[in-house]
Amino acid sequence: MRVLITGVAGFLGSHLADRFLADGHDVVGMDNFVTGSPDNIAHLTGHQRFAFFEHNVTNFIYVAGPLDGVLHFASPASPRDYLELPIQTLKVGSLGTHKALGLAKAKGARFLLASTSEVYGDPLVHPQPEAYWGNVNPVGPRGVYDEAKRFAEAITMAYHRYHGLDTRIVRIFNTYGPRMRPHDGRVVSNFIVQALKGEPITVYGEGAQTRSFCYVDDLVDGIVRLFLRGGNEPTNVGNPREFTVLELAKIVIRLTGSRSQIVREPLPEDDPKVRQPDIARARAQLGWEAKVPLEEGLARTIEYFRGKPA
Ligand code: NAD
Ligand code: UDP
Repeated sequence: MRVLITGVAGFLGSHLADRFLADGHDVVGMDNFVTGSPDNIAHLTGHQRFAFFEHNVTNFIYVAGPLDGVLHFASPASPRDYLELPIQTLKVGSLGTHKALGLAKAKGARFLLASTSEVYGDPLVHPQPEAYWGNVNPVGPRGVYDEAKRFAEAITMAYHRYHGLDTRIVRIFNTYGPRMRPHDGRVVSNFIVQALKGEPITVYGEGAQTRSFCYVDDLVDGIVRLFLRGGNEPTNVGNPREFTVLELAKIVIRLTGSRSQIVREPLPEDDPKVRQPDIARARAQLGWEAKVPLEEGLARTIEYFRGKPA
């Protein structure tokens, strides 16, 4: 197989490229480095089956030769990033998804959209099954990301229904692991970096809000299964084990052996109060569920950040 991965220099895109290459496939990677880093794909330089093109996928995408798959991962993903890049986020989710779909159609390739649990917004149904339509504030600060992804899902389904394109939509829940940017503002990277530097651990609000954290290797395995043998309807992929943010802070302090103190900072606007995937569909259709426990995944991630100058 030969696949295009947009957002390949990002956290998830780079791990996905590693997995496709390890499985013997050819990977064409594309990125404009707006939130990604050349460091994430530096180890692939010179790889026989990897090619990289620096390109903003909001604009027309040209790839020479055949493609069997297009996996569209390009988008700022951390709340800090998409709040700083609201227009780029809306454009890559809408125009960029349109370009990636057009390319898949022209090549007769299967298309996979990296969607998100944010399509459920601040959910009123818990845990969140795919059938839940969500509770999103379209004009709030997070709307730039949530609505871009909701549009991306809609246009993906339109290409499937109208053009008969073979499509997949993965709704990714909070994922963590090596290659997260130390300062991208996401909770796992923030807490680990703060703990390792002995700085205060910034818990927003009371820390009673919950998230369910999936280790990157588990997530990539779910995505590959979905791509190869999943259905066209959206599929949640995430680890259902749910923690409060305060619990996460305490676990990170314990695992790092840090002397950092926990401090409170204001809760960001529209911050979802709870989040946990219902993964019944992924279990039944893909035979998938997350395997790596939080403490083990965190230990691996802490090792990565220890070796990285922050
Ligand atoms: P990331 O910021 O590390 O990676 C995104 C990559 O896309 C970056 O390398 C960035 O430079 C690139 N990019 C952004 N806009 C682009 C454009 N216009 N043209 C070309 N490249 C562009 O984020 P990530 O965590 O790896 O997320 C990847 C995808 O997965 C995103 O679509 C995100 O919405 C989705 N997702 C991630 C999570 C998570 O927990 N990590 C959760 C839900 C959804
Ligand atoms: N959070 C926090 N301290 C931080 C960063 C994040 O308490 O330093 C909280 C944030 O308010 C949210 C949760 O951790 O409730 C997860 O935030 P993240 O930015 O990782 O992603 P989200 O799930 O909100 O998209």
